[in-house]
Amino acid sequence: MLPSREVRRYNPRILFSGEIWATMEQPIYLDSHSTTSCDPRVIDVMLPMFHESFGNAASRTHTFGWAAEAHVEQARGNVARLIGGDPSEIVFTSGATESNNLAVRGVADAYSRKGRHLVTCATEHPSVLDSFHRLERSGWTTTILPVNSKGHFDIDALEQALNRETVLVSLMYANNETGVVNPVEKAGHLCHERGILFHCDATQAAAWLPIDVEKMQIDLLSLTAHKMYGPKGAGALYVRRRSPRVRLTPLIDGGGHEKGMRSGTLNTAGIAGFGEAARIAVEEKADDSERVRILRDRLADGILKGLKDAWINGDMETRLPNNLNLALGNVNGEALPGHMRELAVSSGSACSSALPHPSHVLKAMGLDDELAHSSIRFGLHRFTTDEDISTAIEVTLRAVSTLREQDPHPPPHKDHRP
Ligand code: PMP
Repeated sequence: MLPSREVRRYNPRILFSGEIWATMEQPIYLDSHSTTSCDPRVIDVMLPMFHESFGNAASRTHTFGWAAEAHVEQARGNVARLIGGDPSEIVFTSGATESNNLAVRGVADAYSRKGRHLVTCATEHPSVLDSFHRLERSGWTTTILPVNSKGHFDIDALEQALNRETVLVSLMYANNETGVVNPVEKAGHLCHERGILFHCDATQAAAWLPIDVEKMQIDLLSLTAHKMYGPKGAGALYVRRRSPRVRLTPLIDGGGHEKGMRSGTLNTAGIAGFGEAARIAVEEKADDSERVRILRDRLADGILKGLKDAWINGDMETRLPNNLNLALGNVNGEALPGHMRELAVSSGSACSSALPHPSHVLKAMGLDDELAHSSIRFGLHRFTTDEDISTAIEVTLRAVSTLREQDPHPPPHKDHRP
């Protein structure tokens, strides 16, 4: 017999023992900004790395090491191709958190004689914002650009923020909560005209949007495999080598791997999987984007036509094709996930941290705590079907209507988005 619902919810050891997992009907996965499942082609590439090509890529004296190194170099080529860089400019890391830390703190340390001012935006990922805050504590000045209600910062405000002390600007390509896309190319050109380095966190965009570090004038760019159908624990930082050659102080010292920028035995299986995910993305992201955008638009229409007091968070025009983030008025946000168990979606409570605070992204856009809590984020992906979308619309409409009937007068929202 299955354990009670409460036990299943709170005891991961019981919940995830293979036997019970297999008997449970799983929700429809619509949380791809959080992570994606591995593409089966990625798994095929990774599996031999655990028992055949399992060598240490730094072992130079035997075939096991050479084979592992060959896989890593193939992956490096594929990741470079994804972003229009050179393989020699790719530094493998454990993921985008590390890449962002390395870019911001590594550049700050290496260029501190040039100036001590940095610029970013209020809706960045905590791995960028917290790196900024750490530097503030050691005497750096920072400008954190605000955003408007659509989630955009003002490009003129960025220009005005730059001064002779500015060493680095860090702006994400697409936001992980609202999917709002930033004018990265404009920002890149602005920075280069002033001789300022430009870092871009492209974690969420990599599977969906074109990236060309030359055209966009990007000097450092963060990626992670697990948001693009690759494994967790593998990521990369692109570090420009020419015009300008970017210097970086490593965060991790040791054996001098990755040209001294990131010591530690390489995660060869993860890197090989990342490389395959990048190869597939190069070939398929345009088609994926077109197909998924249609599904996402159907989801938005289906929910918004069926509900009063529901608004889209963030600009719908400049947005990832797989993202929908909705603010649901007059709904008890805390009770919402419990009524949507058929869907694996994320709520407006801290998608990006382990703590249940209202999302800093939605708050930066002007939502009050209440409305941020009663927001939901849908993240579609390569494997989302038409049927998934029909179910998602049905479940959302039912959940919101039920909650509104049960509690017709939850605390009023101060800020109703238009
Ligand atoms: N940046 C963005 C925009 C993200 O969405 C995430 C993941 N939530 C990260 C950085 C951190 O990536 P990782 O999980 O690989 O550390």
